[in-house]
Amino acid sequence: MPASAEALQVRHDLLEWYDRNHRDFPWRRRHDPYAVLVSEVMLQQTQASRVVDRFVRFMDRFPTADALAAAPTAAVLAEWSGLGYNRRALALPRAAAIVARDGWPPDVAGLERLPGVGPYTARAVASLAFGVPIGVVDTNVRRWLLRRFGGADAPAALQERADALAAPGTGPAIAAWTHASMEFGAAICRSRNPRCDACPVADGCPSRGAAVAVPVPRQPALQGSDRAVRGAMLRQLAVAAGHALSETAARERIGADLDGERWERILAGLERDGLLHRRGGTVALGAATIGR
Ligand code: SF4
Repeated sequence: MPASAEALQVRHDLLEWYDRNHRDFPWRRRHDPYAVLVSEVMLQQTQASRVVDRFVRFMDRFPTADALAAAPTAAVLAEWSGLGYNRRALALPRAAAIVARDGWPPDVAGLERLPGVGPYTARAVASLAFGVPIGVVDTNVRRWLLRRFGGADAPAALQERADALAAPGTGPAIAAWTHASMEFGAAICRSRNPRCDACPVADGCPSRGAAVAVPVPRQPALQGSDRAVRGAMLRQLAVAAGHALSETAARERIGADLDGERWERILAGLERDGLLHRRGGTVALGAATIGR
């Protein structure tokens, strides 16, 4: 679908707005695919403000795909500690190992085959690092597209609209548009209290002053959940000497009131996911390695 005259005007106005107003996140100064991939994986499910320092630290510690691929799993998990959704930290080195061996896949389909990389992340890397003018639809982009243009809340229709808006991009404007599109949804056409009064594309917006909430799938409550205990366990192991603790010490440090059956289920789940291993009453970060 080619972009309409209205869509081209929205694109123009948002690019101008972004140029004057955007926040200076460290990953926005990086265009190499490794840095883009690390930042996009970190930003999945984690707020940008929480990612800033962690991204800088992670890139200092593992500056290249080769460095990350060669790092011990426990070191990567320890560096990831506190960002949550720790399986992302296991997939990232596996993707880095493939890239270190074979080079970067040349297209979105190849990027999608990397471990832990879904359609959104593949498109983000293609657009931000490889200059492919395609639409990248995250939660923020979905919301403002629906409010500003209306239409069906269906992934294929939204992707088509986002692709049409991205298509005119050339050179640096390709990455700028992807950032502008995400930033606009995060900063102006916000989920709650959209700032229609400060909106650069308010003219002609059918939702102006009356924007409805665009529901996103909710995560189950974390407090007291198995997921919370899993996170607490990994954080304790991340700061422990040698990234290992006795089971008794781990249980004391977590401080949760868990019966034996639940404790076993949580440990077994972490073990199955390759996030820790047990040996002789000790728990240690990362999967067991052969010969250890
Ligand atoms: S006018 Fe309001 S609802 Fe419409 S795009 Fe701008 S911020 Fe969103």
